[in-house]
Amino acid sequence: MRLIMAQIYNVPTTKTFSEETPIPELGVETPQPEELRVELNPISGERPLTAITYRIFQERDLIRTFSIEPHKLLSYLFALEDSYQQVPYHNKLHGADVCQSMHVLLNSSGIKDVFNEFEILAAIFAAVVHDVHHSGLTNPFLIKTKNDLAILYNNESVLENHHVAVAFKLLQADERNIFSNLSAEQMETLRKRVVDMVLATDMAKHKTLLADFQNLLEAKKMSGNDYLTLESYDDRILVLKNLIHCADLSNMTKPLDTYSKWIDRLMVEFWKQGDAERDLGLDISPMCVRSPTTKDKHQIGFINSFVHPLWETWGSLVYPDANTILETLAQNREWHEASLAALTSSTTDNS
Ligand code: AMP
Ligand code: ZN
Repeated sequence: MRLIMAQIYNVPTTKTFSEETPIPELGVETPQPEELRVELNPISGERPLTAITYRIFQERDLIRTFSIEPHKLLSYLFALEDSYQQVPYHNKLHGADVCQSMHVLLNSSGIKDVFNEFEILAAIFAAVVHDVHHSGLTNPFLIKTKNDLAILYNNESVLENHHVAVAFKLLQADERNIFSNLSAEQMETLRKRVVDMVLATDMAKHKTLLADFQNLLEAKKMSGNDYLTLESYDDRILVLKNLIHCADLSNMTKPLDTYSKWIDRLMVEFWKQGDAERDLGLDISPMCVRSPTTKDKHQIGFINSFVHPLWETWGSLVYPDANTILETLAQNREWHEASLAALTSSTTDNS
């Protein structure tokens, strides 16, 4: 990752749209417009992130509500999509997937009317930008190798600070400034929410984030409210932070064939980091070790320690909306337990 410290990021030369450029009805040219109209699938070939996000902006009427110029939205999304690196997991498809998951979760019955349009715009925007220009290396790796980004951000949420900086850097060009019709005050309000949400995707924040969320829900229950009322900024952003965290950790809650593809991508990314650690003479991070049991062990540990507690809490807020999600998550964990048991017994048999 080449970075000139004062520069944040070199924006790629990407197609820009002008007022004269014809705008495709669905944002992208697609051979399957009917499917794209009905279902938010990444069927746009090379532009899944643009296709999905443009559709979500249309469906939620954000373009009209915030007077966003369609050609600026497309110019921004193209540049954003091209700024996701071609790494196995943290690529444009992951950005698109988290954005789509956010869109679906915002429709959960328990919170459907809780957030205003401004917060929804911030949440969708935060989701789609949240991993832009990820290098496929973890924060601990960047810190221990004294990467420029770690120096720039003083080892604090290194990647997440970079993602959000790149997202706002891309807005600086007039032709990509999708928020040009917001007032300065609205822009600052939006910016604060987006920064807070993207920084909350740092796994190092998980424990505090979840504990605060559980305390909030407990307090709400004690006051006897059947539905969620959130008055303060802190309460509202806390739920939004947990929401983006759920969207980010949603691959394990999806049907096994979809989930398996995400794990395979993540393992390739982790293994590449493990190779780099070995070449540099560093200790190999446990999840980056190339061993037959790493994958199952890591998934079981990750689900038990992080994903299940988070989704269980989310499930209590939107009950019963997340019940199917929790069932799928439990089945996926059982699948890994069975796989690990089979691998362990075949290793024992062979020894
Ligand atoms: P992010 O980097 O923003 O995507 O944060 C989520 C983190 O959760 C990723 O960096 C991964 O380390 C981790 N993660 C996501 N999905 C999985 C998974 N299926 N198994 C293990 N870790 C995961
Ligand atoms: Zn992510």
